[in-house]
Amino acid sequence: MREPVPHTLLQGCGLPQAWRDKSAWRVLDTDFHQGLRFLNIWQTWRSDAKRPRLLHYVALREHPPSVDAILQAAAPYPELHALAQELAQECHGLAVDFHRISLNEGRVLLTLCVGDTQTLLREQQFAADSVVWDPPESAAEAIRWTLKALTRCCRRGTLVVTAQAQSPAQSAWLVQCGFRVAINGPSTQWSYDPSWELKTTRNLELARSILPSPASDCVVIGAGLAGASVAAALAKRGWHVQVLDAGATTAAGASSLPVGLMVPHVSADDNPRSQLSRSGIRMSLQQAKSLMKSGQDWAMSGVLEHRELGVSTLWHSQAGWIKPAQLVNAWLAQAGIRFVPNAVVAAVRREGDVWVLHNAAGQALAQASHVVFANGWGAQALLDDLQIAAPELGPNLARLPALQGIRGVLSWGMQQPGQASTLPAFPVNGLGSLICNIPLDGETESAAQAQAWYAGATYETGTLVNAPVSAHHQANLDKLRTLLPAAAQALGPAFATGQVQTWQGTRCVTPDRLPVVGPLDAGASPRLWISAAMGSRGLSYAVLCAELLAAQMGGEPWPLPASLARHLSALRSNDRARLPTVKQGGISDGIIHP
Ligand SMILES: Cc1cc2nc3c(=O)[nH]c(=O)nc-3n(C[C@H](O)[C@H](O)[C@H](O)COP(=O)(O)OP(=O)(O)OC[C@H]3O[C@@H](n4cnc5c(N)ncnc54)[C@H](O)[C@@H]3O)c2cc1C
Repeated sequence: MREPVPHTLLQGCGLPQAWRDKSAWRVLDTDFHQGLRFLNIWQTWRSDAKRPRLLHYVALREHPPSVDAILQAAAPYPELHALAQELAQECHGLAVDFHRISLNEGRVLLTLCVGDTQTLLREQQFAADSVVWDPPESAAEAIRWTLKALTRCCRRGTLVVTAQAQSPAQSAWLVQCGFRVAINGPSTQWSYDPSWELKTTRNLELARSILPSPASDCVVIGAGLAGASVAAALAKRGWHVQVLDAGATTAAGASSLPVGLMVPHVSADDNPRSQLSRSGIRMSLQQAKSLMKSGQDWAMSGVLEHRELGVSTLWHSQAGWIKPAQLVNAWLAQAGIRFVPNAVVAAVRREGDVWVLHNAAGQALAQASHVVFANGWGAQALLDDLQIAAPELGPNLARLPALQGIRGVLSWGMQQPGQASTLPAFPVNGLGSLICNIPLDGETESAAQAQAWYAGATYETGTLVNAPVSAHHQANLDKLRTLLPAAAQALGPAFATGQVQTWQGTRCVTPDRLPVVGPLDAGASPRLWISAAMGSRGLSYAVLCAELLAAQMGGEPWPLPASLARHLSALRSNDRARLPTVKQGGISDGIIHP
């Protein structure tokens, strides 16, 4: 189908006037075509002095768009060329999936959903302000079901503009679904205004999306990857955020990891963990590209994965290494965020309309209307305490999967001259991992080229529980011998002569090894939230979890399908199951986790 003239549709949606004085505007477009309508709305948003702080554009498409087609479609419109280039850069290698593309420093969020229209509509959890509806060229009954699914994404007053004139049957269905004609012009504008009362109690998320929490103030506990990414996501939306941490610096916990891998999880059945890691990495890569220095703080080096104990290998091109603390610092440096060090939160209590955070001496450290627990496994003690102080939260908090800390050790050392030829040029991952050629931070100019290697990491279970650091180094060397025998031989002397250095940290994990994200208190406007349990994949999950949390708080489109997001729900558990027994020795920070 030919892509309709974009301006007509823009006027049909009543834009830009309709979004003036609003904090966010949410557009749902049932056919992205080659992106021309999106580019047009984005351009209009950019040039409007009274634009909303955030523009959300959710667009559906049966097949991934081609980069060339996007550029070609924009070719007749010189004012759209630069934007089309920017968009096209983010559209390489898209698959059937949700793709969250962050543009204009994160203030224009395109969620490009590729797949079957009806399925994609059912996976949405937001109420659109404007809808652009292209009735599909399919059987009448299919159109009718699509319309029903579309209606679920409307609030009273949502304007729906259609690209072509409707058939009498389509008009009748629109009326049946609760729409009435608002304007009859080159494109027909319909307004969602059913004569019946709208019941939103069946879907709490949708109900919250109609009346979202306006941006106010929030305290985030924890200044690691989880907390800093939440703070950045909220600050971008106009929130005033204080980030409290027990440490003297940012990234004082597991996120002080000197360097970590960002590599997709792969499974034969493409399970939720694989899908989540893929979506998350796309979003993390965007953040790294825009905030960090490539080659120094991170690199999209690609990662070679050895599977089945070296039997087969898999090359991940959309993968690489990152220094987590640099990313944390870049997030926390954003406007609207205040970092408070040496603040050990011992209790969280409700006082009237606000939550007050106390230290162990009972002194108030901070207060805010909203609190986000992003303090890893430290959240468990605070929530157990809160459950006693606020029994009404008990039934909900009892559904939070148990959070557990699991220690791990990374072995590392300075790279010696001449060693480069025996060490891999890119990270290798499998049973353990080896990351080489990582430039060290804070070196003097003469040592600017100093590089380090990192081998690891252990997962403190089985015989490693409470084991001395030397046992962890030995375990790392043993894994390296299987993963990369030549590299193990080259680095062996460093282990033997005690030159190997230690980094250790504690991961926060849940029984199903997936993060916990979302509200902790029930009701239409929750005030207590959590983003934690990043396990061994904080670099892959933190941004995705932060964007999901911010979307849920603000009634915005979610960055991933609702059915997939459910696997992350903070209240997903019905019982505090014990952690499953982890097989000894078969665990690494790369791929093989239970
Ligand atoms: C050995 C090892 C190797 C790893 N390798 C990788 C890898 O290659 N790739 C990858 O993606 N991930 C890796 N990880 C995991 C990654 O480090 C974590 O997933 C990530 O850092 C978790 O971030 P976070 O913000 O949730 O937790 P943290 O970084 O631990 O942050 C929690 C913060 O909360 C603070 N805090 C806790 N309690 C309180 C309180 N009561 N009051 C105030 N502050 C409090 C802590 O001081 C801490 O700073 C590895 C982890 C380990 C241990």
